[in-house]
Amino acid sequence: MAKRKSKGICAFCGDKATTRDHVPPQGVFPDPKPTDLITVPACESCNSDSKLDDEYFRWFASVGAEGNKDALNLIQGRILPKFNKRPALLIEIMKGATKVDVNSEGGIYLGQRPAFEYNRTRVQNVINKIVRGLYYHAQKSILPKNTEVRDFLLNPIFDDKFKNIICTLPLFDVGNSVFSYRFFISEETPEESFWFLMFFDKTLLFIKTEPNE
Ligand SMILES: [Zn+2]
Repeated sequence: MAKRKSKGICAFCGDKATTRDHVPPQGVFPDPKPTDLITVPACESCNSDSKLDDEYFRWFASVGAEGNKDALNLIQGRILPKFNKRPALLIEIMKGATKVDVNSEGGIYLGQRPAFEYNRTRVQNVINKIVRGLYYHAQKSILPKNTEVRDFLLNPIFDDKFKNIICTLPLFDVGNSVFSYRFFISEETPEESFWFLMFFDKTLLFIKTEPNE
């Protein structure tokens, strides 16, 4: 949370803004914090509402990125010490631990590895804020009132044609690829937008917004 004074409206709810909030939550970035983090104006309640969800999201975004130096840094440096202070969150995550079968691309069984079921609601709460925040950052206006942020897709598989289209969208990079994103906002229907959010070059989230019928 950045405490710098800010005038204008909250990027998330449209109320009067009194603070600035990081998008995505700054906890995602390992220390030392990069200098190019995105902030948007926020009201006090939107800024402070999501602390537990933010912590959960930090774990979620980094756990799928095994082997990535920044993710490892984050898990070892920030998340574990925090969990000692918030055992409830750790228990919630550990309860979701399970094993999944792993197959090679050719279909050969490689054994089992640990996987985690995750709390979709917590992750979606954070994603709603990220999409609204980035929308504001791009448009300097909030998502139109009648717009819904749809359920996210985690690591979706796109066909080559769609991939090529995605790659034509400008790529934005924050914190040396800890977070990168592309998006498309329809000019005729500003309620309609598509978001590709990438964490640690591994965890891809696809979200669309649509007019609420
Ligand atoms: Zn607000």
